[in-house]
Amino acid sequence: MECLFCKIVTGELPAKITYQDDLVIAFDDINPQAPQHKLIIPQKHIATLNDLQHEDNELIGHMVQTAKMLAKNLNLADDGYRIVMNCNAGAGQTVFHVHLHLLGGRQFIWPPG
Ligand code: 5GP
Ligand code: ZN
Repeated sequence: MECLFCKIVTGELPAKITYQDDLVIAFDDINPQAPQHKLIIPQKHIATLNDLQHEDNELIGHMVQTAKMLAKNLNLADDGYRIVMNCNAGAGQTVFHVHLHLLGGRQFIWPPG
């Protein structure tokens, strides 16, 4: 298994895991772009958003609900936070295992870079 995030799921690679359940895990990004920067990933390997199947609807919904829950626990909910999913190289995807970025603790600008 060559996938970095699958290795974090199996524990082969260490990560600062802040939340875990049957479907997802959440951990600190190794190169944070904000005071709070978590990655929420499915336990099952899906390379990109382009590979999502209809049967993944509940999983993707659960990833967003997990971001909402973590944002509340991290006291980001009132000030605001950003969730981001990059698809393929043109959007800056570097790890090809679907992940949702949860960023907070600073002011964000729009449009994003
Ligand atoms: P992408 O650019 O694919 O949307 O996001 C990949 C993210 O994974 C980047 O923000 C990067 O810092 C993070 N990342 C890459 N390798 C590792 C790692 O080994 N551990 C952790 N915790 N994060 C990683
Ligand atoms: Zn993977």
